[in-house]
Amino acid sequence: MSRISIKSMLDRHVAANPKVWDHDRAMTVGASEVGQCARKTWLVKTNAAPDADHVDRYGARLRGDLIEIHHWEPGIRSQLPEGVRFLFAGKDQKTLVDGYLSATSDGLLAGVSRSCLDHLGIADIGADCLVVECKSLDPRIDLKEAKAEHAFQVHCQMGLIRHCTEYQPEHALISYTDASFLDDVTEFAVPFDPDIYAAARTRATRIMTAEAALELPAEGKLAGGGECRYCPFRGRCAGVTLGAIPGEIEPLGDNAMVAFGALVDAEQTARSEKEAAGRRHVDAQERIRQFLREHRTRKVEGDDWSVTWFPVKGRVSLDRKAATAAGVDLSPFEKEGDPGERLTIKIKQPQPRKETCK
Ligand code: SF4
Repeated sequence: MSRISIKSMLDRHVAANPKVWDHDRAMTVGASEVGQCARKTWLVKTNAAPDADHVDRYGARLRGDLIEIHHWEPGIRSQLPEGVRFLFAGKDQKTLVDGYLSATSDGLLAGVSRSCLDHLGIADIGADCLVVECKSLDPRIDLKEAKAEHAFQVHCQMGLIRHCTEYQPEHALISYTDASFLDDVTEFAVPFDPDIYAAARTRATRIMTAEAALELPAEGKLAGGGECRYCPFRGRCAGVTLGAIPGEIEPLGDNAMVAFGALVDAEQTARSEKEAAGRRHVDAQERIRQFLREHRTRKVEGDDWSVTWFPVKGRVSLDRKAATAAGVDLSPFEKEGDPGERLTIKIKQPQPRKETCK
């Protein structure tokens, strides 16, 4: 008797029905990709195999598609103000290409009034068209402004529409639909900046013309590792970085020593600034705690911020020594993480001068 698992059936359904694009995505960097870790994007474009233990969490991607296809696009299309057309959306979506950069925009509203965003504080959008972008949002996130990667994405869309079509949008409107309560929609307007578009174009070229993953920085890691948690290439990326560590210790020439000394000085200056900023941060937090204590409250909300102070339970950890002493062998359950690398910089203290006796 075969078992019934709805999850397995849905997983297989999604795997068997990948999204089909009319444009060869291996040839360009898409607007939604260009702001992501450059090394990861290069690995995607070169068709690198994901790590063997990677699990594709398709949920957020599918959620976005479902909301866009079944709610957002038909909803907008059915409620267009008189004289406004909804272009490049739904079945009419188009992939626009400029060099190595491409974008498949969610839609363009043409024939809009220039004051259509005055409710968002923009008296004149500078054109009679407006790029619109559909995003869905994890309900736990409280957004105060458009996410940086989404703002970057709509800059690419505006730039590509300006480059490839007769339309010259000056603004984009990003809508965030709460994934739990679809009636909760937050909107942010983004004005077009040609410099950001030019930077995206240059970045796409740099990614697509790199010949090896090592030529591109591990930006996910450099930014703190948040992006790495869902990256299909974690093991491969670590291998690339580790494989580039020289096996030898070679003496440097005079010029190279001077140049390298400057790099060490720059690192030390940045470290001091970071430590000073860290101390100021800790001090500022402590003054906030003190203020809350004095005013006998643990939560304060302002217009665009809130502060909450609450106790947190200690982390449960495993006492390995006690387990071993009790004769429990934990080694079969140990798992090795991805290999990493470490750069140690030690500053030698100046040696005291030896006094010579006469
Ligand atoms: S593991 Fe992190 S740094 Fe490496 S490619 Fe993936 S996202 Fe980039």
